[in-house]
Amino acid sequence: MDAAAKALAPGAVVNVRGEDGRGFGTGYFNPKSLIAVRLLAEDCDTVIDQSFFAERLARALKLRDGLYVKPFYRLIHAEGDHLPGLVIDRFGDTLTVQIGTAGMEKQRGPILAALDQLLFPATVILRGDAPSRMLEGLDSYVETVKGKGHRIAVEENGARYIADLTEGQKTGWYYDQRDNRAFIAQFAKGKSVLDAYSYTGGFGILAAAAGARETVCLDSSAPALALAEESARANNVKIKAVKADVFEELERLIGLNEKFDIVLADPPPFVKSKRDLEPGAKAYRKLARLAAQVTAPDGILMLASCSHNIPSDRFAAECAQGLLRAGRRGRLIRQAGAGPDHPVHPLLPESAYLKALVYALD
Ligand code: SAH
Repeated sequence: MDAAAKALAPGAVVNVRGEDGRGFGTGYFNPKSLIAVRLLAEDCDTVIDQSFFAERLARALKLRDGLYVKPFYRLIHAEGDHLPGLVIDRFGDTLTVQIGTAGMEKQRGPILAALDQLLFPATVILRGDAPSRMLEGLDSYVETVKGKGHRIAVEENGARYIADLTEGQKTGWYYDQRDNRAFIAQFAKGKSVLDAYSYTGGFGILAAAAGARETVCLDSSAPALALAEESARANNVKIKAVKADVFEELERLIGLNEKFDIVLADPPPFVKSKRDLEPGAKAYRKLARLAAQVTAPDGILMLASCSHNIPSDRFAAECAQGLLRAGRRGRLIRQAGAGPDHPVHPLLPESAYLKALVYALD
């Protein structure tokens, strides 16, 4: 880092060159961030403006148009869509935009203009409140830049969910588990279901709609559970919302010898940084053990991790240890990640952050 580089404003658009002068492309630079440069284009001197973003957005849109009948999906998945630092979720004519870096924050104007040009959204909500923004020296804000209203109905897998796009977590809804929700729902008819870390009931409500006999949504967030109950009413199904810490509640259920036919555990990231790997891995192992203990004989167990800092083989090994310690034998019947609206950058394995393992237990 020379004096000229240090003098650049955070987020400045730069050319990246090797010492031999060879060009690596156009990116944006932040002297305050551990990731100093993120590449936007393979060519140097690429003009980063509205038409640059419109072209990237059009390509992202084309992929989703081929995948989904209804316009409910993650539209831009950062590096996966070659737009590092930018996440956009689409809910019909409403968009939530998450800007995560100083480089993208500087491009806010052209990004919003390109969205208007391509999609004519009625409502655009900027969720600039991810804690990781601090690492980029950015402040925290939530702002409705277009339209009004922040409670919408998400249509997914034939169910309707109520989401709060300004008050809810992240962009308000987790599209990443869509395909895993559908997979689990196949087993639900006539079964009892424990949806641990349910948030607003993404798994539980679909299972109930698929005919589950009893569905418990377990989360520590009262507002998330209130939305789950609203969504249950919107789908004419019943759920039981339980506000508790998952580890404590699982220990309590084990003490009572209560079991469920289907158990899912989709916790917040236990490995937030590389430093947390060992304690986080241990927490996944313990969760696997406890969740297996409340799964009925011949039951289905899904264990998930959204930590990009734990490799998938390590996560699978911890889950296997957890099952072993619970004294349960299982057959792994699905190893999945997020849906195809969360593309993975082929050179960036961390962009495959979500891991979901589904076991049929004996
Ligand atoms: N499965 C959900 C997403 C889960 S996100 C879906 O399909 O949409 C993780 C959830 O864990 C959040 O809703 C958060 O409120 C909850 N959570 C975090 N720590 C918790 C704890 N210790 N006990 C219970 N829930 C917790």
